[in-house]
Amino acid sequence: MSGVRVRFAPSPTGPLHIGGARSALFNWLFARRNGGTFIVRIEDTDLERSSRESEQNILSSLRWLGLDWDEGVEAGGPCGPYRQTDRLELYRGYARQLTEAGLAYRCYCSEEELARERERLMAGGELPGYTGKCRDLCDADRARLESQGRKPVIRFRVPEGKAVVINDLVRGEVSFECSGIGDFIIVKSDGIPTYNFAVVVDDRSMDITHVIRAEEHLSNTPRQVLIYRALNWPLPEFAHVSLILGKDRSKMSKRHGATSIQQYMEMGYLPEALVNFLALLGWSPEGEEEIMTLDEIKDQFSLDRVAKNPAVFDLDKLNWLNGHYIRQAPTERLTDMAIPYLEQKGYIARDVSADQYRWLQTVVATVKNYLSNLSEITGYVEMFFADTVEPENEEAIAILAQEQVPAVLNLFREKLEEAPEISEEIVKNILKGLGRELGLNGKKVFMPLRVAITGRVRGPELHQVVAALGLEKTVKRLEKGML
Ligand code: GLU
Repeated sequence: MSGVRVRFAPSPTGPLHIGGARSALFNWLFARRNGGTFIVRIEDTDLERSSRESEQNILSSLRWLGLDWDEGVEAGGPCGPYRQTDRLELYRGYARQLTEAGLAYRCYCSEEELARERERLMAGGELPGYTGKCRDLCDADRARLESQGRKPVIRFRVPEGKAVVINDLVRGEVSFECSGIGDFIIVKSDGIPTYNFAVVVDDRSMDITHVIRAEEHLSNTPRQVLIYRALNWPLPEFAHVSLILGKDRSKMSKRHGATSIQQYMEMGYLPEALVNFLALLGWSPEGEEEIMTLDEIKDQFSLDRVAKNPAVFDLDKLNWLNGHYIRQAPTERLTDMAIPYLEQKGYIARDVSADQYRWLQTVVATVKNYLSNLSEITGYVEMFFADTVEPENEEAIAILAQEQVPAVLNLFREKLEEAPEISEEIVKNILKGLGRELGLNGKKVFMPLRVAITGRVRGPELHQVVAALGLEKTVKRLEKGML
């Protein structure tokens, strides 16, 4: 195998969240930019918290974002299986090899013993690492402990007095003292490997060339490097992408808004807006233009332009980008996306007739400029579905009370009734002529019409609204406005 090989290796303990999606995206971009291979591997060794449901959520979110993978779960490939619980034999083999070479050892300490040990160390002002109690047990010791029914874990023997230096492609040189690490567990007492061990075995056996992941794994990297060395394996390159913070600079959490990709999908965000936004969380293009398609980002992507400092999650920016993509999107696509929200609100029935669908397209086209996501549409379209509307506030009531109002509403109604059809173009022309005919300025004409027809003092273009409402509904509202 040759060329760039990267992987996204989620633990299926919950839905795909913003941070995970960004890691997946950066790996995908790096693979696609370099003609490499993108692999999706499932790290499900946390048996209690992992579920197939989360795995499915992660995979479907990746697909929705447009991030396809060349090898991995569901795709297959030469390095499978791609789910860690299906690879347990492989880890056991390497654990045995390390143990036989004296580079790892069986540890029989119980949870209680370890907790007491930690307390003792902390009380003496020391770091609460493992003290190496089982490091040098002889065969007889082990036999005695096993006869007590103790089930061992396997610990990695961390070499003393050394430092591990990592040349991270994003963070530069980072050094860790081995003394701060302590012999760590590589296989738990139930025979399941820990993350740090399984990840090394998998990255090596899948020939991963670049490990691109979130900064929170930087502190795990020295442990992983020690395992590579113990097994005499070459190291991949590492690139740790900085944390994502909320606008208040604290670590991104639910407080800062929705965290899972599915939630954004359900709120009516477009995947192209989300990938554009995610790419800018830590990476920046060379030019000024930030609105970019996945393809355009791919053509420019490099790890050199991934920032060391934390990325800030700015929901306003996502809304701005999404609004942009909504305005660009074909009306039919937006209408399809809008239908479930309209149905849920009770504005339409499940089965939409062809005529109604055409009409819905006009409604969507009329309000789309106002939306930053599709679920917001219900807040803008009441005027199209309600039989009558009420002035929204004092200002609106005052507008309808002006003396010219009956004349304006009346003339508009007459003109509409005389018109051959109620198209946007025709209504626009009628509106243009009204002020001239009545000798009134624009505001005195449009504001009362807007309030009478929509109940609002601001909103979409009036000619579009009237065309979408049709003659009958518009006339009803004009009549009501004259009362
Ligand atoms: N399973 C780890 C996680 O979801 C992957 C870390 C890595 O990429 O090495 O955080």
